[in-house]
Amino acid sequence: MADTIFGKIIRREIPADIVYEDDDVLAFRDLNPQAPVHVLFVPKRAIATLDEAGPGDAELLGKLLLATAAYAREQGLAKDGYRTVINCNEHGGQTVFHLHVHLLAGRRMHWPPG
Ligand code: AMP
Repeated sequence: MADTIFGKIIRREIPADIVYEDDDVLAFRDLNPQAPVHVLFVPKRAIATLDEAGPGDAELLGKLLLATAAYAREQGLAKDGYRTVINCNEHGGQTVFHLHVHLLAGRRMHWPPG
């Protein structure tokens, strides 16, 4: 797949406010936060969209979600609650084609989304 801005962040070619890292996942603050806490969790092995994920990605996607939940718990966000979002393609609002989980917290979220 084509390289993206997130690939450059993973390779430390451009700066980011990194808040979590393990062997498979990197997390950094969103440049344009939509909530008091807005962190992006990205797999280091890039998958362009959720639509392109396959059975071979199951373990990585599981690690991505569990890393997001563990971070939220450790940051004390889980009791009040938070939202996770994976945008997919144009109608989903995806702009960076390196699959990522948005973690949004610190305020009450609205449903349904716009
Ligand atoms: P999406 O629209 O779901 O693809 O989300 C992409 C997100 O990446 C947006 O919320 C952007 O604000 C965020 N973003 C884009 N470039 C950067 C960057 N260099 N560092 C941090 N966040 C970024």
